[in-house]
Amino acid sequence: MLAALVDFARSYKAVMALAALSGYLMICLALGCYGLARPPGAPIYLLLGTWVVGVVGLVVVRDRPGRFDAGTLTLAKALWVNLGLVVAASLLPMPVRLMLLFVPLFGVLYTALHLRRRHVRLVAGATWLAYAVASALLALSVDVDLAMEAMLLGFFTFLLFAMVYMAGEVTALRAAFTRRRERLNDALARLSDLAMRDELTGLYNRRYIMEVLSQQKALADRGHVGFALCYCDLDNFKLVNDRFGHARGDEVLKQFAEIAQSVVRTMDYVARLGGEEFILVLVGADHKEALNVASRLAQRCRDIVLGPDSDGTMHFSVSTGIASYRVEERLEDVIQRADSALYRAKTGGRDQIVVGP
Ligand code: GH3
Ligand code: MG
Ligand code: MG
Repeated sequence: MLAALVDFARSYKAVMALAALSGYLMICLALGCYGLARPPGAPIYLLLGTWVVGVVGLVVVRDRPGRFDAGTLTLAKALWVNLGLVVAASLLPMPVRLMLLFVPLFGVLYTALHLRRRHVRLVAGATWLAYAVASALLALSVDVDLAMEAMLLGFFTFLLFAMVYMAGEVTALRAAFTRRRERLNDALARLSDLAMRDELTGLYNRRYIMEVLSQQKALADRGHVGFALCYCDLDNFKLVNDRFGHARGDEVLKQFAEIAQSVVRTMDYVARLGGEEFILVLVGADHKEALNVASRLAQRCRDIVLGPDSDGTMHFSVSTGIASYRVEERLEDVIQRADSALYRAKTGGRDQIVVGP
């Protein structure tokens, strides 16, 4: 508790709040001493006290992030500052009073720049009410020119209405701007997704996986984690298309993509290089772990049965070549080693996994 108080006292916010507060009180005092302020009655002191408590409270809650969102605090600040100002204004004679009454209009505009239209109306309404109550209390406690008071209140009401109207325009502009920015952000997100994903399977595309590989290579070369590649090519895929149609072929590609994603960990990457060729980038994995992943993938593929058609059913399979990255080697070389292993899996009879040198 004490530490929190000391922290708060040291923070610039506390200094600013105290400076503003003492400045405000000193102005009131000085004006009173020189006979410029009207003798304030007890109700005015009550309102002033409330204002002071509010300002201090707002600075304190600012120091506890997460409790209130920024919008709530902005509203509270605008309310308290405006209320304090109109109460102060009601204490002062003309023309200082008139000058001070202009300032809360900026409070209304400030709210329009940060919050919603209903908040603007709330701040304006509360400001008007505070001024009306303060003037009424003053009229009850000391001798004032009632006609002048009524005229000022009318003028202030008119200014507040005009400000609320302008603030409405500002909030409408802000809302339009926000909507446009959100649409732009959405479009940007969709575009960047399109640029990195394969349309059919939703997997990463060749371009993106090459970027990933460059990053993984940089990490491995700096002594961080290495990686292993599983280069997969679906077996006899031309036959799948020929026998069951291109649409079924597309479905199988999507099915394979789902299986591939389900057998890797969240830190790994699966990409479609093109056609029926895929690559799995297994971060921090060696040959043995890559072989495990490829075996699981191959087993799940064998479970897929295509057909039947007039020639009966067809079993689906994948051939995989594995290579793990050697520090400082070129990316083309590790991919080439995985591709050579895949070639051996194909020539060895398909539905096989071959670990490269
Ligand atoms: P292998 O076991 O030697 O890999 O034989 P394969 O038939 O799979 O290989 P090949 O390279 O001869 O044929 C690949 C086929 O994959 C031909 C092509 O029509 C098909 N293919 C490529 N992209 C797509 C696609 O997006 N959708 C479908 N349905 N088929 C595709
Ligand atoms: Mg192929
Ligand atoms: Mg193939």
